[in-house]
Amino acid sequence: MTFEGALNYGRNLLKEAGVLNYQLDAWYLMEYACKMDKSEYYMRGFDEMEQEKFQEYEFLLKKRGERVPLQYITGVQEFMGLDFKVNSHVLIPRQDTETLVEEALKILEPGMEALDLCTGTGCIIISLLRYAGKEIRGTASDISKQALLIAKENARNNQVEAEWVRSDLFQNITGTFDLIISNPPYIPTGTIGKLMPEVKNFEPLEALDGAEDGLMFYRKIIPESLEFLKPGGYLYFEIGHDQGKKVSALMEEHGFCNVKVVKDLAGSDRVICGNLPAS
Ligand code: GLN
Repeated sequence: MTFEGALNYGRNLLKEAGVLNYQLDAWYLMEYACKMDKSEYYMRGFDEMEQEKFQEYEFLLKKRGERVPLQYITGVQEFMGLDFKVNSHVLIPRQDTETLVEEALKILEPGMEALDLCTGTGCIIISLLRYAGKEIRGTASDISKQALLIAKENARNNQVEAEWVRSDLFQNITGTFDLIISNPPYIPTGTIGKLMPEVKNFEPLEALDGAEDGLMFYRKIIPESLEFLKPGGYLYFEIGHDQGKKVSALMEEHGFCNVKVVKDLAGSDRVICGNLPAS
């Protein structure tokens, strides 16, 4: 089969399996299997694809057809222009979360200390450290040992240093911080069954499930953060699109001021920020 034929074969296979971005995904898997970029493809589209490569491509297509997320097959996801290694122990970084990072970058200043709870791949803290400059100190925690292994590797690959703590939220955290940031699990348990197969069958449930109404982690983190924030300290969260009002109210109840909700690029409420009074 030619490269072009193989690509069409892949597109059809993924389309039939119900994969949303079947055209793109068929290409990415071919790129991965054949280690070939677009320019090479345009030059060699009518050449025969080696049998071995076709078998490898077909194997990857089958996995994607079973709705394994593309990123768990290729092992990487780009976020904030950086490459992050992913596996089934960590949530795949989402573009929505870039809004959270961008908002936090607006307030970070040299000398500040930031804590990222539920760090997963480490994409939030690593991007903050990369783009806010070397003067920021970062700590990140996760309850999952496997997630921390990936996060540490991502930090090394992106040339940043942070302190990594295995911790159930604040349990093993010491010290105080200028910024506490988190993208905690926030999907209501009853909604998880309605998510795409890629998410509900393959991404770690413990990174998604925010209990009955999805707000369990905000209810824990907001009051407990008071002990770990410096005066004037900032608390930044990613939230579900319909959680802005409730999480704002929770933050205000616990004394946070300047509480605001920020929309993601798709126009949904996605980030909530606030800070403690300076004294
Ligand atoms: N945004 C993710 C999703 O829609 C959920 C992330 C989370 O629970 N923190 O699948």
